[in-house]
Amino acid sequence: MDKPQTEITFYSGIHTIGGVIFEVRYGNDRVLMEMGAAYDPKKDVFDGVVEPRAKNWLADKLRLGSLPEIDGLFRAADLAGYEGVVPVEQSQLNTAVFITHLHLDHMAHIGTVAPQIPVYMHRNAQIIERALETVGEGVDTLVRDYQDLKPDELVRVGEIEVTPVLCHDESYFDFAFLVTTPDGVIYWTGDLVLHGENHEQAFKQLDLLSNYEVDLLICDATSFMNDVLSWSNQSLNPQAILPSREVPQGLLSEADYYAWNYQKISEAPGLCVFNFYQREMDDARRLIDWAERLGRKCCFEPDAAYMVHQFFGISPFVYYPDSQRFGPGAPAWVEELRRNSREVGLEEIRANPGAYLLQNSYRHIMELFSLPGGLYLHMGGMPLGPFDPAFAKMLLLLEKAGFEFASFSAKNYFAHAYPSQVKYFVDTINPHVLVPCHSYNPERLLPKDGRQLIPELGRTYILKDHQIIEKNLEA
Ligand SMILES: [Zn+2]
Repeated sequence: MDKPQTEITFYSGIHTIGGVIFEVRYGNDRVLMEMGAAYDPKKDVFDGVVEPRAKNWLADKLRLGSLPEIDGLFRAADLAGYEGVVPVEQSQLNTAVFITHLHLDHMAHIGTVAPQIPVYMHRNAQIIERALETVGEGVDTLVRDYQDLKPDELVRVGEIEVTPVLCHDESYFDFAFLVTTPDGVIYWTGDLVLHGENHEQAFKQLDLLSNYEVDLLICDATSFMNDVLSWSNQSLNPQAILPSREVPQGLLSEADYYAWNYQKISEAPGLCVFNFYQREMDDARRLIDWAERLGRKCCFEPDAAYMVHQFFGISPFVYYPDSQRFGPGAPAWVEELRRNSREVGLEEIRANPGAYLLQNSYRHIMELFSLPGGLYLHMGGMPLGPFDPAFAKMLLLLEKAGFEFASFSAKNYFAHAYPSQVKYFVDTINPHVLVPCHSYNPERLLPKDGRQLIPELGRTYILKDHQIIEKNLEA
């Protein structure tokens, strides 16, 4: 039998913001990187009106194309007669799935993976996902376990080795993955952030990679979109992007983003309401700290409060919106929360609005009509931006309820690494082949000496002699 070759297949996420899924296969061994979905509310059929089917929920994701057709990953029973893929029971592959971090564009589909296939993610991410599932906001999922992912602790999947490289050590933790096979070295950045508050940690990746000759670098190129390039480089010409480790002059870093939000709260005379992304436990920690510093009480809605309690083991302040969800017959987690939290009532807030920093999710936005007006700080919660039809409705409701909308939307800030920083990262690693992805404009991220490859989805490529060739074109 011939010696196996290293085969790489991209399933999604090259030309979209997020949703990167690819596999590396060597013989019967296979690792799948990520299991996420690019977020697009305009294409989401299950918008709250259309009901997912009970026995077909997984197969329907394949039928709709939101879940890619990947052989040997789903159970026959869950495929419910769908014939587009080989079920796990009929597959010879030895598979493991690896998740860089707990953003939906990297893990929305983890619950579809056959429970006998290991899915690796950090312990903190598992705690947060479990808490989200308990409050009904987790991913659609089969009953399954997750495997711990630890920084620098190598995982062997047959002849393939995966090393998790720590990039951010708070909340659910963020990783990049170094994948080695007998044929070479592949590196996947996950979300690349080089101006975060712990950017030193992120830059340490480069120290590690200086020990390797990287054959294939698969790199987040989110920031190479028209908007960011036009205000960071005043040009869309990729040749004009010069490598630099620093935050470009006139642009802001993550620390500036948080400083702006803190400033807004500190200047608000009355009630301050915030809408954040409930899984961001480092944001929850910051908001609690800020409230304490400003002599306010940080009150969460029950769902987020339960997560804060589970993650930090503390008894947070809770405000119960007027909802049947928390009334008689409420699920067990609400009772557990009542025992482990301190309730703040409407009358207390009305009596002294300036003493509170209060969470409000879009789901419970009607609650604002019972509260005294004030500042509404949008900090990454849903609806995320004007591309979501709900965003305009949110603004209308805020106006009616007497809240002033504030959101850090400066034209000089972007959450992912800036184009010049990504270029610095790529040039320092200087891989033989560069695959830019997670981007509307991946082709704009150019390699230094190597070759750029924009892979075709579903096509298999071979890693051989430091090059990547299409499988059917190999010699
Ligand atoms: Zn992402």
